[in-house]
Amino acid sequence: MVEIKEKSKVKHRCRVCGYTYDPETGDEKRGISPGISFYDLPDSWRCPVCQYTKSHFYEVKDGHR
Ligand SMILES: [Zn+2]
Repeated sequence: MVEIKEKSKVKHRCRVCGYTYDPETGDEKRGISPGISFYDLPDSWRCPVCQYTKSHFYEVKDGHR
């Protein structure tokens, strides 16, 4: 149960430009409200910086927690 909640908070980084999607911030310029998990983003969502698709993102492991 806790794992699912934590999973939804995982940040994802664009391997092309380094942009990081943070679920706690969302992407309000594109209508993505804070609290939306990366996994819940529509497939049409693109990196706001370089316009690459979700498949170019990888999970950012926070090793300090
Ligand atoms: Zn990018």
